[in-house]
Parts: sequence; structure tokens; C-alpha cells
Amino acid sequence: MQYHPADELLVAYAAGSLPEAMSLIVATHLALCPHCRAEVRRLEAVGGALLEEMPAAPVSDALLDAVMARLDAPGGDTLLAPPPAALRATATRSAAAGAIRRTATAPVLPEPLRSYVGRDLGGLSWTRIVRGVEEVAVPCSGDAKVKLMRIRPGVAVPRHTHRGSELTLVLQGGYRDGGLHYLRGDFAATDAEVDHGPVADSDGECICIAVTDAPLRLTGPFGRLLNPFIRS
Ligand SMILES: [Zn+2]
Repeated sequence: MQYHPADELLVAYAAGSLPEAMSLIVATHLALCPHCRAEVRRLEAVGGALLEEMPAAPVSDALLDAVMARLDAPGGDTLLAPPPAALRATATRSAAAGAIRRTATAPVLPEPLRSYVGRDLGGLSWTRIVRGVEEVAVPCSGDAKVKLMRIRPGVAVPRHTHRGSELTLVLQGGYRDGGLHYLRGDFAATDAEVDHGPVADSDGECICIAVTDAPLRLTGPFGRLLNPFIRS
């Protein structure tokens, strides 16, 4: 593994300020990367120390009353310990989740991703996008789209750009893009308007999780023809 989330992403993750989709892909990388886990622990410690050194801010009586009222309300105790977004996904599991079967692909999906889609990749309802490329949506709150992608060995994904950014994490196999080679655990960030065309390694299927904050737009002669068929 050579490619990791940018520092800003890890800082935002440690601060708990990422939207659910981005939190999910970063947390999945952390499950595979001891280096970034240690970095997030360090950032959390720094954040905690800074908080302790901040002078106490005066709080109005009205705000204090409002907080106390919410704590007293039914279910108010959840205010004290909100579950991390990435860990409270059981309500949005797909129908395929929970089907626990021993398959060769069982270890491909680490937590927390496994809580979202289950562990049986073959049991998911994959949709063919173009020849050799399939995807399945991962339910997440917010505007960003989260997908699992499955690319057949050696297949080139049609060249495309994004109006927004795309984050990709390899879960199985690998792919080459822009002269770089991404393998399991590697994290790639593609900015808006970068025209790219990943090519899956020829020695096996490539499975990735991708987060896009705006729809893809295919480029190139075939890509333009296929644009109407892309599901946003
Ligand atoms: Zn890392």
C-alpha cells in the first residue's frame, strides 16, 4: 500500500466533521492501514489537548436550559454518546446483508464497510454499467454517491471526468491510472475535471469503493455515447 488519504481528510475525520460517505471510505482505509490509524490517534490526542487548554466560554442561561431540557427529554441520553456515523448503518443494510456464507471473497470487505453491504459480494445486486464494469450503490446519507465497483481483469473503464471529486479505495486486485499503480488499501483522490481512465490489472478482478460528490461524465468517443446511460 502506497497511497493514503490527504492530511486534511484525516484531520477532518479525527474531528468527526466528515459527511457519512467520506467518513465510510476513510474508515475503511483505516481498517487496512496501521500507519493512518496511528496518525488519526495522534490527531485525536492533539485535538483533545487543545480542547483542554481552551478557556471556558461563557454560556447563556437560555442555552444551558435548552441543553438540559433535551437531555431530560425521552431519548435524550443519546446526546451524550452519538454513535459514529460510519458505525450506525445497520438500518440501511441491503437485503443481501446478513447472508453469511463462506465464499472466497469473504475477507475482501473490512469493517465498517461490511456493516453496510454484508460480506457476500456475489449476493449483491450488481448492475452492469459497461462491458466488464459493474456497480452497486451503498446506501449513505448526504449528497455524495457511494458505490462498490467490480471491474473484470484487464478491463479499461471508459475515460471520464467528474464535476466534483472522486475518492477511490481498492479492496481487491488493483488498477493503473495516470502512471500510478493502486493495490488493496490504496486510496486515490481525483479532482474535478481530471480526465482519467483506470485499467484493471490483468491477473484478477478489481473491487473498489468509490465516493463521488457529483455525477460522472464520460469523455472520449464511446464515452459521450454512453453518458445518457450512466445512473447518477
Ligand atoms: Zn493509510
